[in-house]
Order: sequence, then structure tokens, then C-alpha cells
Amino acid sequence: MSDVSIHNVIIIGSGPAGYTAGLYTARAMLEPLMFAGYMSGGQLMLTSDIENFPGYPEGIGGPEMMMQLREQAERFGLKVQDKNVERIDTSSQPYSVWVEGEEHKAHALIICTGAEAIWLGAEGEDEQKGRGISTCATCDGAFFRDEEIIVIGGGDSAMEEATFLTRFASKVTLIHRRDVFRASKVMVERAENHPKIEIRTFRQVKKWLSNEKGLSGAILEDPRDGNTEEISCTGAFIAIGHKPITSFLDGQIETDDSGYIIPKEHTMTSVAGVFAAGDVVDTRYRQAITAAGMGCQAAIDCERWLEENIH
Ligand SMILES: Cc1cc2nc3c(=O)[nH]c(=O)nc-3n(C[C@H](O)[C@H](O)[C@H](O)COP(=O)(O)OP(=O)(O)OC[C@H]3O[C@@H](n4cnc5c(N)ncnc54)[C@H](O)[C@@H]3O)c2cc1C
Repeated sequence: MSDVSIHNVIIIGSGPAGYTAGLYTARAMLEPLMFAGYMSGGQLMLTSDIENFPGYPEGIGGPEMMMQLREQAERFGLKVQDKNVERIDTSSQPYSVWVEGEEHKAHALIICTGAEAIWLGAEGEDEQKGRGISTCATCDGAFFRDEEIIVIGGGDSAMEEATFLTRFASKVTLIHRRDVFRASKVMVERAENHPKIEIRTFRQVKKWLSNEKGLSGAILEDPRDGNTEEISCTGAFIAIGHKPITSFLDGQIETDDSGYIIPKEHTMTSVAGVFAAGDVVDTRYRQAITAAGMGCQAAIDCERWLEENIH
């Protein structure tokens, strides 16, 4: 017989979805355990200004907000371990979660592992992340009023971000490495016809340029012949996709082709008692407030499921 204690619920991931699920399950007396993961606090730890999370009229720094969310959930009894989940086993109840080789058991799981933006990996990129280069126009567009910016990508998100950014920027140049777009025709046409948008095809970023103020431009390369040219810009938005963090689930929870978890019944996944919230299920909104909202939904669904099926 195993002497591993059985938790009601284990929450995997500590972004806005995870902490909100932690707050709600803790207040429901479920004594939740959270594995916060390799990036405790989630994606917002990478950003200095959040201006669109309700409740902060002056805005707030990402790390500060995430610390407050954690403190609030811990006040009601959420136990957090800053460790990564390696794998899970949902073949029988209670479910198993392995962390640093150690097995933990719970009747229910809430998966809040988010989605990573895909970066280009061009020279100088790491230094300029958050200092001019962003992956979220909704989040950071307003910081680039009357500035010249570039958007990289050829899908619907790139077109949408380019069009959205014209509200702030004086000029938006859309850079795409081919002359064929994955984006729908209507989205491409909207961008093409916009007076503030210029589309440059057969271009890719070879190197980011900077000065003491931050990003100052990029060296673009033509992938066909390697010819280069310089473009100046003070902001850049990389819109080439996101990668949900679901590989550790090893196919036990149903996902779409890109790896996003597919909700089956409200926030419950294809496995009864396993719930998912935040960017790991969200191909559309990807905001802190929507992730937090889903974390709340998953916690309430989890509480009801435990009540009906376990306790
Ligand atoms: C630079 C930047 C700026 C942004 N600015 C804003 C903004 O101003 N406003 C806004 O609303 N949104 C903003 N966003 C988007 C916002 O950060 C996300 O929508 C939100 O963080 C998603 O929350 P989440 O809880 O789903 O996941 P995340 O915040 O991505 O958190 C995922 C969590 O899962 C954990 N994890 C992953 N794998 C494992 C594992 N195997 N075991 C345990 N834990 C694991 C990670 O450690 C992390 O804690 C920004 C994003 C970025 C990148």
C-alpha cells in the first residue's frame, strides 16, 4: 500500500488562472496544493506595466501583481511548491502527479500551465524583450503612441495586431518571410488597404538594433538571396504563434492539433475530474483577466465535481 496522502485537488501552474483557482478552492476548504512550475507567477513576471487588470487605477508591475495574487490565495490556505510537474497519470482514481521524482495524489487536477509565445530567436532579441519587443499588442500597444513599429508574421494574429496597432502607432510595417499569407483573405485585404500599414514580404529579422533608450530598429534579410537592409522602429510585435504547455500530459488529456486543451463540459477536460483554465485552453483572448476568470470557473466546476463524485 502506498502511504502518499491524497489531496482533494492539485493545481498545476501559478499564473492568474492558477492563483485564482487556488483562491477559490482554498476558500471552499478544499486545501488545494499548487505546483507553481519553472516560472512561478507565470508570463506576467516578464512585464513591468499592467494597465488593463481591473482594480489597479494607476497600473501595476507584473511581478508585484502576481505576488499579491499569491499572497491572497495563501491567506486562505493554498499551499504552493515552486516545482515543476514532470508527468501525470489519470488512468485511475486518485490521479498521480510526479514532481522531482516524487508521487503526489489528488482526486481532481486543475491545469493552468499557460502558453508560451513563440519568439524569433534573432540576434539581440533577449536583451530587448520588454524593452521594445513584445508578443502582445493588446497588452503593450498603448506604450507606442506616435511611434513607428513593426509586426512580424503572416497569420490572422499578425494582421489583427497590425491593424489594432494603427490606433497608436504613426506607422506599422508588417514583415513576412514569404509572399503567401496564412491569414484569411479579408484580414490581409484590411491590412493592405490601411493607410498606416505597409506590408513588406520576403523579409525576416536577422538582428535587432538598440540604443540607450531601447529598441531602435532591425536588420532585415531577404531569405531568397540573403540581401540585407535596415529598418528603424522603436517597437516590434512578434505574432508568429503560441505554444501551449501540455507536452507533460503525454496525450492523456485531449488537445487540438496545436496542443491546446479542449474543454469538454464547461472547464472539465476529456478526463473526468481534470479541469483546465487560462491560456492553455484559450486560442483567442489570452489576457490576465480572462485567465483569472477561467481559473474561477475551473475551481467552481472542480468543487461541484468533487461534491458529486468523491465526497
Ligand atoms: C510580456 C507579456 C506582457 C503581457 N502583458 C499583459 C497585460 O498587460 N495584460 C494582460 O491582461 N495580459 C498580458 N499578457 C498576457 C498574460 O500574461 C497571459 O494571458 C496570462 O499570464 C495567462 O495566464 P495563465 O494563468 O493561463 O498562464 P501563465 O501566466 O502563462 O502561467 C503558466 C504557469 O504554468 C506554470 N507551468 C508550466 N509548466 C508547468 C509544469 N510542468 N509544472 C508546473 N507548472 C508549470 C508556469 O510556471 C507558470 O506559472 C502578457 C504576456 C506577456 C508575455
